[in-house]
Amino acid sequence: MNIHEYQAKALLRSYGIPVSDGRPVTRAEDAKTAAGELDGPLWVVKAQIHAGGRGKGKFVEPEAGEKGGVRLARSVEEAAEFARQMLGRTLVTVQTGPAGKQVNRIYIENGSDIARELYLAMLIDRATSRISFVVSTEGGMSIEDVAHDSPEKIISFDVDPATGLSDFHGRRVAFALGLEGAQVKQCVSIVRAMYKLFIEKDVEMIEINPLVVMTDGNLKLLDAKVSFDGNAMYRHPDIAALRDETEEDPKELAASKFDLNYIALDGEIGCMVNGAGLAMATMDIIKLYGAEPANFLDVGGGATKEKVTEAFKIITSDPNVKGILVNIFGGIMRCDVIAEGVLAAVKEVGLKVPLVVRLEGTNVELGKDIIRNSGLNVIAGDNLSDAAQKIVKAVKG
Ligand code: GDP
Ligand code: MG
Repeated sequence: MNIHEYQAKALLRSYGIPVSDGRPVTRAEDAKTAAGELDGPLWVVKAQIHAGGRGKGKFVEPEAGEKGGVRLARSVEEAAEFARQMLGRTLVTVQTGPAGKQVNRIYIENGSDIARELYLAMLIDRATSRISFVVSTEGGMSIEDVAHDSPEKIISFDVDPATGLSDFHGRRVAFALGLEGAQVKQCVSIVRAMYKLFIEKDVEMIEINPLVVMTDGNLKLLDAKVSFDGNAMYRHPDIAALRDETEEDPKELAASKFDLNYIALDGEIGCMVNGAGLAMATMDIIKLYGAEPANFLDVGGGATKEKVTEAFKIITSDPNVKGILVNIFGGIMRCDVIAEGVLAAVKEVGLKVPLVVRLEGTNVELGKDIIRNSGLNVIAGDNLSDAAQKIVKAVKG
């Protein structure tokens, strides 16, 4: 689960990490008051969307002006003007995809005088199953280029969970960032606070880019992205409350309400599968036969008629879907029950694209008979490979 920058900063501030004072604003008419509550003489007006690369982003609407999603203002009036230009407009960045994201909220904060921009991230390294630090002196808006062109400038090391974090780790970060004197101490305490937050709130990633050395020599965090383990949110109601559903794919949101594991993709074949491994294999085989999956969907072990119906609604609401492949292994569930569920869903939702159904497992013959005798335009697949070829042929001709 992702949260906005302004929420991440409030959380990090509550752990004692230095961030600027700021105000979130959703209505243009409130921007001047909000900016007036801050000291100045420099204000930063920042689009709040769940995507990075805002500084280098571009707005779709000409009314939003030429500048990107992070703007420096020299007066309260200028800050308010930037807020008015950005709110409600669509920002396209390298992370939003070409459609961009609507800016429903901006954050106005006190501007900082920057001497150096650094990069500091913490995440779970899947290879070592440990919390890992990723550090670079080359922070700022081109960290992806640094990773690509000069990976040696990105330093990474992990924390042994048996011994946990010690000040040694903080000093190692400080050394990698080329910090000196009092900055080292500040860095050690920032790292300690980040680690505490990471552990206490089931964080998946904290990315601070940039962490800056200001012209007065102090460290401050100017941008923060924090994401959490969605499966752990039941034990952090304070964090769960930060969820902004307007930032999420409406199809994924609908799926989460029905406990379906759904990820939207950009292909043309909708997939309905039970079991995450089988869902992955289904996507692979669709690609093998020359098409692209429109989604990952695991309806789970107990695929009830209600769940299957909801899954169908979500799949068919995607205008890119030109065909649907249902691939269900009836283990605990019987194939005849699943076949009836699929048919009921098709009858309720309607079907405007070809549908191939592949069933395997308990009562498979009965299930296939039900599909064959349904009178609906459903194509039965004999096995996974046959089903994949049939749906690709139906879609691609
Ligand atoms: P991102 O582009 O989405 O990563 O947004 P950031 O919050 O990282 O801002 C982009 C860039 O704007 C930073 O790398 C800085 O160069 C600049 N920036 C952000 N805040 C300030 C500030 O307080 N003062 C100054 N001078 N520049 C800032
Ligand atoms: Mg940034």
